[in-house]
Amino acid sequence: MATARHGAPAAAEIEPLRIYGKVDVDLRPALETAGVPDGEVEQYVKLISREVSPDTVGPGDRFDVVLARKLNAQGQPEIGKIMYAGLYRTDGVNVRLAEWQLRGRRSWFEAEEVGRTYQAIQRPVPGVVSSNFGPRHHPILGYTRMHKGMDFRAGYGTPILAVQTGYVRTAGWNSGGYGNHIELQHGAGLTTTYSHMSRLTARAGQLVQQGQIIGYVGATGLATGPHLHYELRRHGQAIDPATVKFTSTSQLTGSDLAGYRARLGQLLSLPLGRSPEKPWIS
Ligand SMILES: [Zn+2]
Repeated sequence: MATARHGAPAAAEIEPLRIYGKVDVDLRPALETAGVPDGEVEQYVKLISREVSPDTVGPGDRFDVVLARKLNAQGQPEIGKIMYAGLYRTDGVNVRLAEWQLRGRRSWFEAEEVGRTYQAIQRPVPGVVSSNFGPRHHPILGYTRMHKGMDFRAGYGTPILAVQTGYVRTAGWNSGGYGNHIELQHGAGLTTTYSHMSRLTARAGQLVQQGQIIGYVGATGLATGPHLHYELRRHGQAIDPATVKFTSTSQLTGSDLAGYRARLGQLLSLPLGRSPEKPWIS
C-alpha cells in the first residue's frame, strides 16, 4: 500500500506489517512475544487506554497492530510508527483506532465513535444541584478548596444513571474520599465519575448505555449525607459539567468520514501477519 505523499516518490515504503495475536496472561508481554518493538508496545498501550483501561485487558483478548514499514539505506525493512491499533475483547468491548488528518492536524479516531451522533448528556439523578463546580469551603475539611464536580442532593438509594453511553473504566472503593465510585469512559477523551454511592451495579470493563442504572445514592467516603458527587473530565482534567455538553455531531463528516473509513478498510484488508523473522531487530 505504498502511497505518494505530496508528490514525493514512495519507493522506500513497503507494505505495512500487521501483527495479530492473543493475550495469554498480560498485554505487554503478549505484544512483545508477537514481535511488536518496545517503543510501539508503549504507544499501543497509550492509544488503547483512550478507550479502555489497559489493566482490564486479559487472557483471550486479541490485539491487532499495523506498523508502517520502509526500507532503510541498507535495503533492510525497518519498522515505523503504528498505523492502526485494534483490540478485540472477550467481553465484546472492541477498540479500532486509525489516524486521520482533519484541518491540518493528525488525530486518532475510533471506528465506532467516529461517525456516531451523540445524544445530549442526561442528568445522573433527579435531585437538585446543591453545590456547583468551583472553589468552596469544604464542609468536612473546614478549608477552601476546589470542588471538582457537581453535587446533586438525592435520597439514599436513588438510582444513579449513566449520563452517556460508555465503558466502565473503574468501579469500586476509592480510598481518596470518593467512597464507592465509578468512572465511565465515553470517547473523545471524556470521562464522568460518580461518587459516594451506597451500592454499585456496574463492573469494570462493562459497556453501559445512556440512562442505565450504574448504582445508588449513598454517603460513602468523605460525605456529610446522601448525595451524588458527579465529575466530568476531559483527558483526565476535571471541567465544569455545567459548561460542557457532550458532542452532538459526529467527529468526522462527509469526505473526511468516507476517507477515514476507506483507509480503515485498506488497513484491515492487510493479511493477518506474524513476524517470525523480526528483520528490524539487529
Ligand atoms: Zn461534591
